[in-house]
Amino acid sequence: MLLSTCELSYDHLVLATGTESNYFGMENIRKAALPMKTVDDAIEIRNYMLQKMEEVIIAADETEKKKLATVVIAGGGPTGVEIAGMLAEMRENILEKDYPELSRQGARIYLVDGASTLLTPMSEKSQKYAYDTLVKMGVKVRLNARVKDYVNDTVIFADGETIQTRILFWTGGVTAKVFEGVPPESYGQGNRLRVDEYNKVTGTRNIHAIGDTCLLISDKNFPQGHPQLAQVAIQQGKNLAGNFIATLHDKPLKPFVYDDKGAMAIIGRSKAVADIPGAGRHFNGFIAWTAWLFVHLFSLIAYRNRFMTMVNWVVALLTKDQSLRMIVRPSPKRKERSLGQ
Ligand SMILES: Cc1cc2nc3c(=O)[nH]c(=O)nc-3n(C[C@H](O)[C@H](O)[C@H](O)COP(=O)(O)OP(=O)(O)OC[C@H]3O[C@@H](n4cnc5c(N)ncnc54)[C@H](O)[C@@H]3O)c2cc1C
Repeated sequence: MLLSTCELSYDHLVLATGTESNYFGMENIRKAALPMKTVDDAIEIRNYMLQKMEEVIIAADETEKKKLATVVIAGGGPTGVEIAGMLAEMRENILEKDYPELSRQGARIYLVDGASTLLTPMSEKSQKYAYDTLVKMGVKVRLNARVKDYVNDTVIFADGETIQTRILFWTGGVTAKVFEGVPPESYGQGNRLRVDEYNKVTGTRNIHAIGDTCLLISDKNFPQGHPQLAQVAIQQGKNLAGNFIATLHDKPLKPFVYDDKGAMAIIGRSKAVADIPGAGRHFNGFIAWTAWLFVHLFSLIAYRNRFMTMVNWVVALLTKDQSLRMIVRPSPKRKERSLGQ
């Protein structure tokens, strides 16, 4: 196997390389839009948004001001819905205090999707709740609106409609990575690696794939493959590790069976949706929000992180505020060093 730093030989290779944003070949969008896939992306978004708020205040030109005060989020899956909800709450609670000029300007938030509903993989009740809640929060939701290009600060839709903005989020899809040396026929939809029930990549002898990057269609409950969720990745990792140990002890291998724990999305304070199999299926509002908070809190590694996060959340809940407003960026020199230039 070739790494960027060296070569490694292996008996078994496990690919757990996740996915990256898919721009469907739209180069202008890839270059200019803000993706939300990694912690780096999240920090970049935070800094970018703060910077745009500063710029809108000093901009002299009204058209420029309007572009800076307009946000378009392309992609109404859980990530897009969560970003839209968070920005709507920030507009409600923080703008008036920190950026009164921007508040008066009237910041606009658009959430657009090519499909006819938000949260496509979730239940109809969750989809409706998310739509109604975001609309109530003042988000302009446009469905059946496929983004085609982003040119000169203008989002262009397939039907010719346009929205002018300097802030475009791209949450419109993901794709897995393609590795040379893996047979091309082993790749399925979204470049996910087709695997059998033991997570072995089809057409290979000793390559396994787990998590978002793999596609297992033999599970009769998930004929299109499992949802790209942390629980699937965790459970597949555990099952595969167990099978490696079983092989060492000449024991039979265990096929992967997904224990579906459901799906959730948070929209705002006391506003969330949860589809939990076998427990009444759909929850929303305060119950779903509390469940979301607990599930995500207990998923954090180490007690200290859980405790600190809980304290931060409680303070944010009580004060309706986040304390940190600094724009934090690595200096150009440090950036060059980290890129090895
Ligand atoms: C904004 C957001 C919110 C989400 N919220 C939830 C949620 O609330 N609940 C939930 O269950 N799921 C959520 N998910 C999905 C969840 O994060 C993924 O399903 C999960 O992380 C998949 O785990 P993974 O190990 O397959 O891939 P990842 O967690 O993506 O890890 C892949 C790793 O491989 C590394 N990598 C990639 N390519 C290479 C390479 N060529 N060489 C070496 N390393 C490489 C990457 O840097 C990364 O560290 C969310 C995803 C996003 C983007």
